[in-house]
Amino acid sequence: MGRILTILFSFFTFLSAIEIQHTPIDFSKARVELTKRYIKEHYGLDVDSIKIVPKIIVVHHTAIDDFYESFSRLSPAVLPTKRADIYDGSMLNVSAHFLIDRDGTIHQLMPPDYMARHVIGLNYNSIGIENVGGESSKDNLTNEQLRANIELIRELKRMFPSIEYLIGHYEYRCFEKSKLWLEKDNGYRTLKDDPSKRFMMELRKELREFQEASCD
Ligand SMILES: [Zn+2]
Repeated sequence: MGRILTILFSFFTFLSAIEIQHTPIDFSKARVELTKRYIKEHYGLDVDSIKIVPKIIVVHHTAIDDFYESFSRLSPAVLPTKRADIYDGSMLNVSAHFLIDRDGTIHQLMPPDYMARHVIGLNYNSIGIENVGGESSKDNLTNEQLRANIELIRELKRMFPSIEYLIGHYEYRCFEKSKLWLEKDNGYRTLKDDPSKRFMMELRKELREFQEASCD
């Protein structure tokens, strides 16, 4: 009996180790088709499925300090026309697999092994975690968000042992010479500063098992 209780307890401990709210964005057939087209146009790959094998976790901030406003930017399948900086790239809207609110609540927006558009060159190899905050480039992500990122990243590594790298979005161009980089258009780049060097340093203090982006 004691053994069964121990097993049950371990099982529930595992399940409750990390709490994730399901808050899905629009992932209708249209978004799947736009994703396939993005993979074809940007990466030169003809795919039947938009499933990925993640190798990298990319941490972001939304540059908006409000959760609902952040969510509404990521939810529609089609990119709003005001994103002129990346509109030439594709009509596929940006998204991320997870969105972490300022109180540390983790929202899962889409299946973790579907491709999201969140980082040039590396979408087909990576999982994106957005954090609500960073408006006007402020370094204001909270301690609750830091703890939630650490828990979520550990959980993702358990789910996907293929993950090797942990990077901040501002480090994405360090992969341009890597075999993981797939972007075909050499003129398609944007300047990024999220989520902040301070936040990545805090994350890496507790997540030493991951490789960093090498910018040499
Ligand atoms: Zn970003």
